[in-house]
Amino acid sequence: MGKYDALATLLLEAIKEGGDFTKDLSSIPVGISNRHIHLSQADLETLFGTGYQLTKTKDLSQPMQYACKETLTIAGPKGAIEKVRILGPARSESQVEILQADCFKLGITAPVRLSGDLQGTPGITLIGPKGSVFLSKGLLIAQRHIHMNLEDVKHFGVSDGEQVTIQVDGLRGGTYSNVVIRANNTSSLEFHIDMEEANAMHLVSTSRITILK
Ligand SMILES: [Zn+2]
Repeated sequence: MGKYDALATLLLEAIKEGGDFTKDLSSIPVGISNRHIHLSQADLETLFGTGYQLTKTKDLSQPMQYACKETLTIAGPKGAIEKVRILGPARSESQVEILQADCFKLGITAPVRLSGDLQGTPGITLIGPKGSVFLSKGLLIAQRHIHMNLEDVKHFGVSDGEQVTIQVDGLRGGTYSNVVIRANNTSSLEFHIDMEEANAMHLVSTSRITILK
């Protein structure tokens, strides 16, 4: 190994050991979500055709998650909403996350839930280019939450599943309580909130929030 190779190796190791040294743990980045859909592979194929694969257009901040080119119409007894974005990859169960105001348009009352907690949620119809699916459950309004890894858990002194209060700065700022910590080995530090709640406190994608506990 040459002198420069050795130096490069040392530098790489230093970077690795230092971890993500650009991460600022004094405040937490904000991710704002609009209404969106997660699909099972079976439902994806009913809606778009056999063997169909989603088309990624943009990586999201959480590992492996991405926005897709594909959209669907969602329909309830009172009305429909077009062009609802699909997020990939395919999941074991389909799920539709809407905004509170969408409930009036659709004519369905959806509960506030964490993603994946589908038991007892109402159903919804999905309409795609090649077919439609009636989901017997899976319609929810996302509960605000903070993704973090296990190092972040130690830093903030919180635990997975705990509910905390967060502070939003600014003229329309305030506090939001019942913010669920979602921690695992792979998550990136980010506060997730839907567009309605974000607008209420004038949160934008460049905003940062702090945990009050
Ligand atoms: Zn999230």
